[in-house]
Amino acid sequence: MDSVQFESLPREELEAVQLRRLQETCSRVYNLVPHYKESFDKAGIKPEDVKSLKDLSKLPFTIKQDMRDNYPYGLFTVSLDKVVRIHSSSGTTGKPTVVGYTAEDMKSWNEIMGRVYRMAGLNSSDILHNAYGYGLFTGGLGFHSAAEQMGMTVVPSSGGFTSRQLMLMKDYGATVLGSTPTFALHLAEVALKEGYDLKNDFKLRAGVFGAEPVSPGLKEEIEKVWGIQYFETYGLSEIMGPGVSGSCPYSKHLHVAEDHFIPEIIDPETGDPLPYGERGELVFTTITKQAIPLIRYRTKDLTTLFSEPCKCGRTLVRMESIVGRSDDMLIIGGVNVFPSQIEHVIAEVEGLSLNYIIIADKKGRLDKMDLEVEVCDTIELSDDTLMSKIKNELREGIRNHLYVNANVILVANGTLARSEGKAVRVIDKRPG
Ligand SMILES: [Zn+2]
Repeated sequence: MDSVQFESLPREELEAVQLRRLQETCSRVYNLVPHYKESFDKAGIKPEDVKSLKDLSKLPFTIKQDMRDNYPYGLFTVSLDKVVRIHSSSGTTGKPTVVGYTAEDMKSWNEIMGRVYRMAGLNSSDILHNAYGYGLFTGGLGFHSAAEQMGMTVVPSSGGFTSRQLMLMKDYGATVLGSTPTFALHLAEVALKEGYDLKNDFKLRAGVFGAEPVSPGLKEEIEKVWGIQYFETYGLSEIMGPGVSGSCPYSKHLHVAEDHFIPEIIDPETGDPLPYGERGELVFTTITKQAIPLIRYRTKDLTTLFSEPCKCGRTLVRMESIVGRSDDMLIIGGVNVFPSQIEHVIAEVEGLSLNYIIIADKKGRLDKMDLEVEVCDTIELSDDTLMSKIKNELREGIRNHLYVNANVILVANGTLARSEGKAVRVIDKRPG
């Protein structure tokens, strides 16, 4: 069966394939990885007890700490002579997490990322300007090698050097941009400042974005300012890298490559599985990975899965764009707040840009939230009437949507620091 057929298999057939691959993966990790032998035994389950996909919920979770505890190669199921690539994610605390890929794994990765490109309508005549960071991070090379395999022309520009990137995009005739959404917006901002005509100086027709939770407002803004179609991919190095899921032209949700990964949604507090349509923490079990298969890996990303059929004909379940990470969630006065929700409200207020920063702090014993937002460059900060109108509208919107109070501070366009990778949206100054 080729890769394309998997995308629209009847569910029963897909599930039969998943079960067989899950069973193989379970015996593989149980027999080859001491960590899994131990965690399966502790959970009182043997690989042969996995008789249906429902049994998945009996298997133990894997968490990032397990990867750190087995640093660097303790969770690998192949010897290093079979490994052709290493990636790792920077740990802000302690050791990074390391993943390896066999030649077979690279084939799977190119295949699923290739699907994302095809869903976006791209083909060998496209020119991809790849502004994802190259290096240990999976973004740059993940986008790169699948595009090259498809015969696209890849410009491996990596991050940074905004003005130079714009020159290359124009001169080399990029038709597709691969970057984080905030960098795409930053590129547009600089381009306008430097006098480019975004729609006529560039040949861009689509963008494949990922690696950050964003609001629908920011997506629309990028589509509008660049005059392109917004496509999205989701991925994480522990599971594979970009390409784990991707959006099609008919849905803003992302089809999951279920022939390679089984997604689940769990209650982040209790760990209990949640049904389709309910929001919770995304968990993945890899079922084709050779070098480092992971059982029920907790991503900490919050989303919802949908099983309704999609107009594109694919039968793969869809996940909503990541709402936030359980790590990024701020608790303000007992209320859960995600930066993407704040962003959504900002997008609805006229006169504001989507450059903002949330600062959580304490006032006495109470939580307080400052929200610094840049106004659009067409707006005068000295117009007091307009400023108080915008402030009120934003404060009201946040109170109505999120049930928290925000102290809104409007700042001039270009004041807040720009990120060339993942945007920093939150500063939490509260102790502990
Ligand atoms: Zn679809």
